[in-house]
Amino acid sequence: MYKYILAMLTAGVPALLAAPAPVPAHFSPRAAELLADRIELEESAYQLNVVYFVGNDYEPTADYERRISELLVYLQQYYGKEMDRNGFGKRSFGLSMLPNGNVNILLIRGKEKHTEYSYDRGPGKILKEIEAWYKEHPEQKRSQHSFVLMPTFQNEQYSDKSPGGVPFYGYGRDCFALDYKEFDIRHLGQDTEWGRLLTKWYGGFAHELGHGLNLPHVGGTKTLDKERGTALMKNGNYTFGYSPTYLTPTSCHILSCCEVFSTEKKPHYAEEEPVPAVHSIKFRVAQSGKELKLMVDTDASVSQVIALVQDPPYSVNQDYDAIGFPAEMTKTKDGLSRAKITIPFSEITALNNLGKGEMGIDLLFQKPDGTRYRWTIPFDGTKLEAGTKIPTPQPQLDSGY
Ligand code: ZN
Repeated sequence: MYKYILAMLTAGVPALLAAPAPVPAHFSPRAAELLADRIELEESAYQLNVVYFVGNDYEPTADYERRISELLVYLQQYYGKEMDRNGFGKRSFGLSMLPNGNVNILLIRGKEKHTEYSYDRGPGKILKEIEAWYKEHPEQKRSQHSFVLMPTFQNEQYSDKSPGGVPFYGYGRDCFALDYKEFDIRHLGQDTEWGRLLTKWYGGFAHELGHGLNLPHVGGTKTLDKERGTALMKNGNYTFGYSPTYLTPTSCHILSCCEVFSTEKKPHYAEEEPVPAVHSIKFRVAQSGKELKLMVDTDASVSQVIALVQDPPYSVNQDYDAIGFPAEMTKTKDGLSRAKITIPFSEITALNNLGKGEMGIDLLFQKPDGTRYRWTIPFDGTKLEAGTKIPTPQPQLDSGY
């Protein structure tokens, strides 16, 4: 807090007026210190639903309102700063806030014992009960995205020092993370037992939230990794808060169309919309075999095309090696949307099959309302030739990650 006051005093009146709201007085000194350089975010028209779900024989972990609020507010700032750095403005996921400055966390008590809601049993039962709760409290459902926290099991296998037992993954527009006694931002970046544990679970929290905000696994180019560290949606869950961790331009392009990042009220994810028509894809090797150029023409409904290059296999959770190349569309004279993407091979050298065997390029076609389609082009890294022909794709809806 001291730093914040000092910054305000030295910044003069104009900066004072532009300053974000003060850090709540009951936040910990460490949280105030970490939030001292926070930026004022644009207001989102939708907010992430934050749910704390417990079995009927469990209580939430002590002081969860303050701890989870600090962790979420810091993460909201992190996403907002990364979006700003990537040219999308000071936008982040919206949070519903209480008058005391805490996040409005919805405490939902399950109908059954905690063991009925274990990792192994999957998310179905929990999501069904949350949906039933939203029906009774429709004013509390503020978007289609929910972030669900559950306290660690306490048994021979799991405890506050070794948390687990509950779901921990992204699942469509819902994602799950866990809570435990020392899940507290005061341990951030510290080389202590609690500090290392926090990076593991807070990094996981930040990464799973990304999945719940529509993000697939994706890493950055070789240059970006060198400049900025580890991509959050690659292995950044192991580095977040400990060493530099960043959101790739691909992640930021996708977030720019996510409902809870939207600054205006408008419908999202209209999945009944027709699959976008892809008119042509031109694929050529340029610069004496040093780069791949793609030119993609689609109908006007597509606003962004992203190429994800990866080694096989391509399925979910075997796709951590994907490297993303996003492109904004331009309009052609005949009313189509056109993306031009260049993939320099020097930027994807981490891929094992480069020049050796089959690789894949997934093309993600995103509409402005966040609806996304995917199509995979396998190509033989040993037989790249100028003018390689690609069949016209039939993209599939891409909504589960
Ligand atoms: Zn993941």
